[in-house]
Order: sequence, then structure tokens, then C-alpha cells
Amino acid sequence: MRIAVVEGDGIGHEVIPVAKRALEVLRPDFEFFPVEVGYGKWQRCGEAITDRDMEELSSADAILFGAITTPPDPGYRSVIVQIRKTLDLYANIRPVSGEGFDIVIVRENTEGLYSGIEKIEEDSACTLRCITRKGSERIARCACRLARNRRELTIGHKANVLKADAFFRDICIAEAMKAGVPFRECYIDALCLDILQHPEKYDVILTENMFGDIISDVAAYLVGGLGMLPSGNLGDDHALFEPVHGSAPDIAGKNVANPIAALRSAAMLLSYAARDPVSARRIEDAVQRVLAREIRTRDLGGSATTTGFAEHVIRELEASDRT
Ligand code: NAD
Repeated sequence: MRIAVVEGDGIGHEVIPVAKRALEVLRPDFEFFPVEVGYGKWQRCGEAITDRDMEELSSADAILFGAITTPPDPGYRSVIVQIRKTLDLYANIRPVSGEGFDIVIVRENTEGLYSGIEKIEEDSACTLRCITRKGSERIARCACRLARNRRELTIGHKANVLKADAFFRDICIAEAMKAGVPFRECYIDALCLDILQHPEKYDVILTENMFGDIISDVAAYLVGGLGMLPSGNLGDDHALFEPVHGSAPDIAGKNVANPIAALRSAAMLLSYAARDPVSARRIEDAVQRVLAREIRTRDLGGSATTTGFAEHVIRELEASDRT
């Protein structure tokens, strides 16, 4: 497989090399090539992503992606949003599991408030929250396929207030009924609290774009923070795997970032794109063995550096390779 590697900005430069190294140990047959995009590139060249970069990304069998800084500058368009839209990576899969709970958040990834239909005028600003039948049906089908092999589906929305959400909710319910998947629905604000108080109640959670973004950051609290959560951005023809966290400028360059989210994103790449769940499991087992020895980065209350933690995980992987 040909894997495009995008470090991006900030801690992407620190955590993605760790994830790439893990893949190199497990799959020496993979071919890697770097693609430079992001805010750093924009500052240097005036363009955050070029047509050629997009072509290279679209030529890859899978993309391993770090994080990109998106400054609050009206002249700058989010690179990850552009990539998701151009490669039609419509399903954002975000697993969150821990002691007594195993949740998968399925977030629609191309529509809603992130559709890019917006304007700022002198005295007002407007961002359109566009939700289509096609977009809702395909994400609902994706969530139902996952839920069919698990327990049930929870549809998170705000249909009592937002017409676009009532539309989304009705389509999701119709798809769940068609697929014969047990489902319930929940207002997204109530869900943000309940997922923290009763995470064991939830299995597959389906939301539109922004609500999925928010609920997954909320759920990160359950597992020790953003440094822990991976994600897969899947389309029919392309797949991109990235930590849920951003470029974390507050800790960038300090060698303290937690590389677990990036390592788990590499594991998702292995299971979803390479159909290699055995190697994916080996990454998770190696991470768990290192954590069990109380080796942790600062965000988890430890003192290990990014490179220090990474060395332990890679050594575990190399050792498990020999057994
Ligand atoms: P963030 O996820 O970068 O950071 C939030 C907090 O979590 C920070 O305190 C950070 O230090 C901490 N954190 C995040 N990842 C960590 C890790 N691996 N280890 C230890 N601590 C970690 O979110 P933010 O501060 O809201 O955004 C910073 C930049 O990242 C912004 O420009 C934003 O647009 C961008 N961003 C990009 C993506 C993406 O590329 N997919 C996603 C989210 C945010």
C-alpha cells in the first residue's frame, strides 16, 4: 500500500513520525511518501494546499494525517475541511473505549455548518447549515452497518429547535428501521452530559457534522483527554486517519505531546484500509503494555516525553514481532 504522510502543523510534526514508525515496524511492505500542507506552508508560500498536493493525496491508498492549524482569519480556508470535501470523506469514525464502555461516534463529515457556505458583512455574519438527503442517507447507512454488528444506534440531534436537524433525524430513523437496527434518539445537549455520566449506555452514536465534532471532544474526557482519541475519515474511494486533536500550539515543539491518538489512528488505518486487524491489535496491545508500566506523557499525569513514550511502544512492537 502507498501511504501519504501529512505531518501538518504543531504537534503533528511530533506524533506522526511515531505513528509512521509503528507502521514501518509492522508493515515493511508499505510505501510512504510525505505531503506538506498546512498553515506553515501558507505562511511560507501563500498556499496551504495546492492542486498538486490534493492530487498526491488522492493517489494514495490511505492518508496518515497529523493536524493543521486553522487561524481565525477570514482569508484562510480550513485545509482538513477542504480535503474531506474534495476526497468526499463523508464518514468520520471516532471510537472511544475504556473501562466498561465501548462507543463509536459516527459523524457526518462534509455538510452542516462546515459546508463553507458563509459570508461576513459589516454588521452581520451568516454560516449556512446545509444538510442533504444524500449526505444524511449515506452516513446513516454507514452507522447502521456498524451498529448491526454491535448493539444499537443513538441518533444525537437538536430536532426540537433546528429544522435541518429534524430533516436529518427523520432520514436517520428511516434508515435504521430499514436496516432493522435498534435505535433511540437523544437531544445533543443532553447527550453531552449523559455520555459522561453513563457512558456504558452508548454504543454507536450518529450525528451531523458539528455536533459530532463537539461530542467526540466531550467524550475524550472519559479516556484522559484529546491525546488518546483516533479517527478515520472514510469515503467510497479514499481514507484518511488522524488524531481527533488539533495542532496544540500551546505544547508544540516541547516533546510532551501524547502520541497515543496518532498511534491509534495508525491502528485504524491498518484495520480499515489495510484490512489487517491483527497488526492493528498489536499497536493497541503495545500501548496498553506501556501504560500498564505507569509510563505516561504529561497530559496523563506522567513525565514521559513524546519520544520517550514512543521508544517504549516501538520496542514493544519489535519484541512482539519476534515472538
Ligand atoms: P487542540 O486539540 O490542538 O488542543 C486542545 C488542548 O488539548 C490543548 O491544551 C492541547 O495542548 C491539548 N492536546 C491536544 N492534543 C494533545 C496531545 N496529543 N497530547 C497532549 N495534549 C494535547 O485544539 P485547539 O487548541 O482548539 O486547536 C489548536 C489548533 O488546531 C487550531 O488552529 C485548530 O483549528 C486546529 N485543529 C485542527 C484539527 C485538525 O487538523 N483535524 C482538529 C482540531 C483543531
